[in-house]
Amino acid sequence: MAKITSHGQTAIQSFVHTLNYTVENFTHQCRFPHDEHFFVQGGFQLNGIEGFIRFYPRGYSNDDENWLTLYIGLVSSSDVEIYMNFEVNIITLVENHEVGVLFQQFQLLFTPEFMWNAVKVVPTKAILKRMLLPDGGLKVRFVLRTHVHGIDRRLSSKFESIWHKIKEVLQQEPGKQRFDVAFVTDNRIFFAHKCILVYNFAFRAILSEWSDYNESIIQLPCVRTEVFEEMLVDCYVKSNRFCRKCFSVRKSKDAICCEIVSWRR
Ligand SMILES: [Zn+2]
Repeated sequence: MAKITSHGQTAIQSFVHTLNYTVENFTHQCRFPHDEHFFVQGGFQLNGIEGFIRFYPRGYSNDDENWLTLYIGLVSSSDVEIYMNFEVNIITLVENHEVGVLFQQFQLLFTPEFMWNAVKVVPTKAILKRMLLPDGGLKVRFVLRTHVHGIDRRLSSKFESIWHKIKEVLQQEPGKQRFDVAFVTDNRIFFAHKCILVYNFAFRAILSEWSDYNESIIQLPCVRTEVFEEMLVDCYVKSNRFCRKCFSVRKSKDAICCEIVSWRR
């Protein structure tokens, strides 16, 4: 079995970028029916990562019909995981002054296989009614806070056989497993152990962000469930606080769990 060294407590590094886009003649873009999935795209750069944002004036799928939907895609040359907290501001002009007419905040997770996500921001109707610039353009300002962390995918693949088992452990009764944190993604609830999650920089960033709110359930409505589950299981696979023989959480990284039993016999 491959050896996994313990994780270092590297500081969470976050990068803040402000991006401005103006979609010209927004009303014209809205004339395309929903089922054409028409979009306007703009690019950006984030510390060596190529990114693009698509504006779907009338939605990206059947679930978001007639909503302004934003699709964020990232392309990285190396394997990275990204936790992104981003603010969307729609700006308009009132007597030549810029005024924010909408503010929304989203949290997203990206892993190498799933470097895209889509969020619905506001009904298209509401934009057409009161959010456009005098010349008919739509001005959107993004503030992206990204936490980027390089990972070695080869390590995970050696442990594929235990992924399934860990998924089962995570679906057991919350009391039985003494879970101490819960997450709600777009369609599922996940329970976990904080001491395991600190393995992963993205979860550290999420936990520290939410520690101010004093909430026991962390809501991540825009995080895609399969991405979340993959990162969660990955923590258990790699953490030295989780025993991959008896599938239990150790009190400390050096604590003995199942091994003492076999020694006594
Ligand atoms: Zn054990």
